[in-house]
Amino acid sequence: MGGRRHAPRTDVTQRFLARPVAWAALLLVLAAAVIAYFGSTFATKTYFDQAASRGQTTLRLAVAVLRGQMSRYQSLPALIADHYDIQALLADPDNPARRTKADAYLKEINVLLASSDIYVIKPGGETIAASNYDGPVSFVGENFSYRPYYQDAIQGRQGRFFALGTTSLKRGYYFSSPVTIRDEIKGVVVFKVDIDAIEASWKGDDYEILVSDPEGIIFMTDQLDWLYSSLKPLTADRLARTEASRRYANATLRELPITQTSISGGHQLMTITMGGQAREYLVLAEPMPEAGWTVSVLLDTAPVHAQAMTSVTAALLLLGLAVLAAAILLQRRARLRERLELQRSAQAELEERVALRTADLALVNQQLGTEVAERRATEQQLRQTQSDLIQAGKLAALGQMSAALSHELNQPLTAVKTYADNAAILIERNRTEEARDNVSRISSLADRMASISRHLRNFARKPNEQLGPVALADVVKDTLEIVAWRLKAAQTEVAVDLGSRPLIVQAGQIRLQQVLVNLISNAADAVEGQAVRLITLTARRQDDKVTIAVADNGPGIPDAIAPRIFDPFFTTKGVGKGLGLGLSISYNIIKDFGGNLAVMNQLEGGALFTITLDAASPSRREAAE
Ligand code: ADP
Repeated sequence: MGGRRHAPRTDVTQRFLARPVAWAALLLVLAAAVIAYFGSTFATKTYFDQAASRGQTTLRLAVAVLRGQMSRYQSLPALIADHYDIQALLADPDNPARRTKADAYLKEINVLLASSDIYVIKPGGETIAASNYDGPVSFVGENFSYRPYYQDAIQGRQGRFFALGTTSLKRGYYFSSPVTIRDEIKGVVVFKVDIDAIEASWKGDDYEILVSDPEGIIFMTDQLDWLYSSLKPLTADRLARTEASRRYANATLRELPITQTSISGGHQLMTITMGGQAREYLVLAEPMPEAGWTVSVLLDTAPVHAQAMTSVTAALLLLGLAVLAAAILLQRRARLRERLELQRSAQAELEERVALRTADLALVNQQLGTEVAERRATEQQLRQTQSDLIQAGKLAALGQMSAALSHELNQPLTAVKTYADNAAILIERNRTEEARDNVSRISSLADRMASISRHLRNFARKPNEQLGPVALADVVKDTLEIVAWRLKAAQTEVAVDLGSRPLIVQAGQIRLQQVLVNLISNAADAVEGQAVRLITLTARRQDDKVTIAVADNGPGIPDAIAPRIFDPFFTTKGVGKGLGLGLSISYNIIKDFGGNLAVMNQLEGGALFTITLDAASPSRREAAE
């Protein structure tokens, strides 16, 4: 599935990439084609020119050698013709003594001049003396009247001719000269030069030197196959002419198998196919008019083509290398660019992330700042609300209290009025005793009202007492003294347990005492009527708090009234017995101390009031309280 998802992306990339690559490849192919075409043309031309100039040198050298050989021998027949022995022989051709002498002379100078043969022909063509008279093939007696060199010389001209010896079957160049005795041509001297030695010096690696006669027949070449082959078509005329001079004796003449001739870049090219193998040659030719020859140099073009091919291949390879180098360079650059891009993007991402984090942090910081401000505002508001609530609670309590107070005071006041009215009537009627009783009731009612007012004063009065460390043991001792009469009346005692270590609490001594008096009085009220009356006062320190517990085995507090017992004027006690202010005042006092007053019923029955106060370290101010 992942592959599929990626496929279109790869496609797009490929298509995107494919274009420039395709273009580059096309350009490259074009460049290669251009190099191959023009390069090969240019290289071929250059190498052909070089080969041609090399061939020209070879040709010039070959021609010079040939000319040298010829000029070396051409005047010799005339010189020999003037010799006494030759003259003497031709003056009397049939004289055997003269023949012997002439033979000896010819043999001697033939060795001296390193020529092939020297011989003398009398008019009519018969050879009458020869340097090879005693050799295996002797010319003596042979008739050479058909040879052009004889025909030229007998007519008084210097003759020269190239031919394959009909008797010796050796190729040679013939120089001839007439032998003139008293202005009369009496015979011919022929001087034959061997050309094998010249030919042997022509061995070349990539060229062939060939010499052709006026009919175009090759008679000198180191390529044996080509010997007596014709460069020109063997027409009947040509064959007849050659036949007449018996130039090539009985050698078979044939045409050189030239399959193609062309001119390329000013060079003459010729393809010769022999044995099914075609070879192309660059042809350079120079005529030697003095001999009627044409000297040609044939350069094999295969090495030239190979050279050109090598150059083109090298150029193409260079191009390939250049392209490869360029590709590598481009790739490297691309990779570098990619890497840089990657680094840049990574850095950018990092920076972005840092910026984001910083922004986040700034935002969080700002949020925190706002939150703190909000908290502060909320706290402020809470405090305000709290104080408002306290105020409202106070007002509510005041209202409640006013209502309760008017009720509490109205009753005794009504009673006082009734008792007072009755007392007045009883005094008028002299019923003093009853009147006194009424007055005493009034007095007790006044006492009750005074008690209410005293309690209220306590309730309303803002204590001027300072808070401080208070020794709990002292407070408990004073309290027990105050409530002693009440306990006695209830026929009970308080079991006190303050632990082993003296406990010091943060409180006001008088007010804490007031609270304890209240709690113990209530407990005494509660246990009244119980068969066994138990009141316990226990105090313990736990960490930095001190818990004071006042428990009794009374009836406990019914769940229905438990939430209201700390309300002012809430009481279950009968009229004249309880004001319902004790717990309310106690609660407020403990709150003023920064502590807490709570109530719960014990499992075994009876109420358990718990005061929790801050523990304090003892101080001298304790004494002042
Ligand atoms: P008073 O004692 O004048 O009634 P308080 O405020 O001291 O007023 O008490 C309120 C009410 O709480 C009492 O009327 C009583 O019903 C209940 N009460 C207080 N202490 C105890 C106790 N130890 N056991 C049972 N009920 C109690």
